[in-house]
Amino acid sequence: MSDPTVQPVPASVVEQVDAADVTLSNPHRAVLALGSNLGNRLETLQGAIDALEDTPGVRVKAVSPVYETEPWGVEPGSQPSYFNAVVIVKTTLPPDSLLERGQAIEEAFDRVREERWGPRTLDVDIVAYADVVSADPVLTLPHPRAHERAFVLAPWHDLEPEASLPGRGPVAELLAAIGLSGVSARADLELRLPD
Ligand code: ADP
Ligand code: MG
Repeated sequence: MSDPTVQPVPASVVEQVDAADVTLSNPHRAVLALGSNLGNRLETLQGAIDALEDTPGVRVKAVSPVYETEPWGVEPGSQPSYFNAVVIVKTTLPPDSLLERGQAIEEAFDRVREERWGPRTLDVDIVAYADVVSADPVLTLPHPRAHERAFVLAPWHDLEPEASLPGRGPVAELLAAIGLSGVSARADLELRLPD
């Protein structure tokens, strides 16, 4: 006989914990920025979106149009342009776990980083997570450069014209302040919401 004072964990409880991840009880909203400037850029962005959706505790709610962006901080023409997009997710993952998952997805796409601002297969940034404001360099929220990046603000504004960047103000105003230089909509390309 097993010791009756030791209570095994009922299988149903274990299942409930898993189910809580999957059914997104108490989810938070997060805005993610995706960028790719190596390889098949559109396929990479779609793969990242699908990988996010495949993450327990993450549900992709909206996917922006694709923007093409000249790389920044390098000689013109020395690197392929970026394809950029923004996705809105609902997630039960805490911010640090969402960051880790984004980095794991970057790794899965064999991201190569040899130089700062060098070409990369995939970059996944957390633009904002709920209303969280954090100066932690490992995860700064909102993203410290989102308010000055048209390739983040323009696709986000397409999805949510009324959105605000916590601590910075309305996305529409931030975008109007910097304009669209170096960024163009690629209406001929499309990313899909995962099924
Ligand atoms: P960048 O996206 O700025 O070009 P990286 O993708 O190499 O550069 O990220 C560098 C580091 O930035 C990451 O290791 C991560 O810890 C940190 N970081 C800080 N805040 C954020 C954020 N909001 N989203 C993504 N990474 C962040
Ligand atoms: Mg990044």
